[in-house]
Amino acid sequence: MIEKDYIIVGLGIAGISLCEQLQKHDKTFLVIDNGEEGSTAKSGGVFNPTVLKRFTAAWNAAIFFPAAIYFYSQLSLKLQKNIFTETAIHRIFKSVEEQNNWTVASDKRELQDFLSSKFLRNTNSTVEAPFGFGEVLGTAQIHTNNLLSGYRNYLINQNVMLTEDFQYDAIQQKENRVVYKNFSAKKIIFTEGSKVIYNPFFPKQAIIGNKGEYLIIKAPSLKLEQLLKGSMYIIPLGNDKYKVGATYSRDDYSLNPTSEAKEEILSKVKSFINCPFEIIGQTAGIRPTTKDHRPLLGSTDENPNLFFFNGLGSRGFLMAPLLAEILLKNLEENQPIPAEMDIKRML
Ligand SMILES: Cc1cc2nc3c(=O)[nH]c(=O)nc-3n(C[C@H](O)[C@H](O)[C@H](O)COP(=O)(O)OP(=O)(O)OC[C@H]3O[C@@H](n4cnc5c(N)ncnc54)[C@H](O)[C@@H]3O)c2cc1C
Repeated sequence: MIEKDYIIVGLGIAGISLCEQLQKHDKTFLVIDNGEEGSTAKSGGVFNPTVLKRFTAAWNAAIFFPAAIYFYSQLSLKLQKNIFTETAIHRIFKSVEEQNNWTVASDKRELQDFLSSKFLRNTNSTVEAPFGFGEVLGTAQIHTNNLLSGYRNYLINQNVMLTEDFQYDAIQQKENRVVYKNFSAKKIIFTEGSKVIYNPFFPKQAIIGNKGEYLIIKAPSLKLEQLLKGSMYIIPLGNDKYKVGATYSRDDYSLNPTSEAKEEILSKVKSFINCPFEIIGQTAGIRPTTKDHRPLLGSTDENPNLFFFNGLGSRGFLMAPLLAEILLKNLEENQPIPAEMDIKRML
């Protein structure tokens, strides 16, 4: 039997953040992940501490933001990979009223560091923005492919990575330990994203998947360097390629791209860019969202050695690094999980 402190199931941004915390505290672990693309792989990778619909700060942005910036900077150095680029978001103003609302918001203490008080004039003739842009600072684009492949290789080199589907019926729960095949650990922590709904130990009602789709386009004359936010995001991928989206749908949990989403994205993007482009791909993923838009940390009463780290919704990159720290403090030092993040509120 191989003894570990923890077994982690799932290697998206939740699993990676947790591994980093465990290593920092010299804990031993094994990661099991099936190698399928989860929400992290399918996301836009936008790291944004603001809500650009209403010009407000994201929930707890002031505490999540510094932890996340530190995390991605350290991880880039550790993996020797380009896992993120600091880049502004240019939010297209729809009207003078929006400009005024932005000015008021940018004066608020919690938004001062993020919403620039100066407006930008539009100098790109392929973008329709007669009222100009507001510039969001402190934002970044996470290069999810580099992050996921870099971290997986790092774990493989340390001999702590198993690429397989976790088999729930192979768990044996002992009083103080959990046995899985030939491994024994103090706890198993499930970081499975929206696929957690197939986990028989998880309270299914706690997650409401939210499907999101992107179109990948090639637009040689668009020439965007920053992230552009109109009625949708346009995210530069390099070589004149862009990710455009995403949609939000609660009715469809399948991973197949849909014609409805394609039409919605096309109609929205054509309202703010006027250059020719070619559609070269379409992707779909499921956000692990909760009813109250708050994360899910901790265990249920029935299975105290089985933990969950989930519910990252549409803000995974901002929240995961600090949430991993909160979870580890609970596991190792018995510090309480804040009630609004505790999975027990959903039982
Ligand atoms: C279209 C879209 C756009 C998004 N854009 C953004 C964005 O711009 N910014 C942002 O912050 N967030 C964004 N999000 C949300 C973000 O992607 C999620 O909050 C976050 O990635 C969730 O990470 P996770 O680690 O919990 O889950 P995941 O990334 O899904 O990782 C879970 C992993 O566990 C594996 N797994 C699950 N069950 C098992 C099992 N039984 N055995 C083995 N392996 C298993 C899965 O295959 C997967 O690899 C977006 C999401 C979508 C769908």
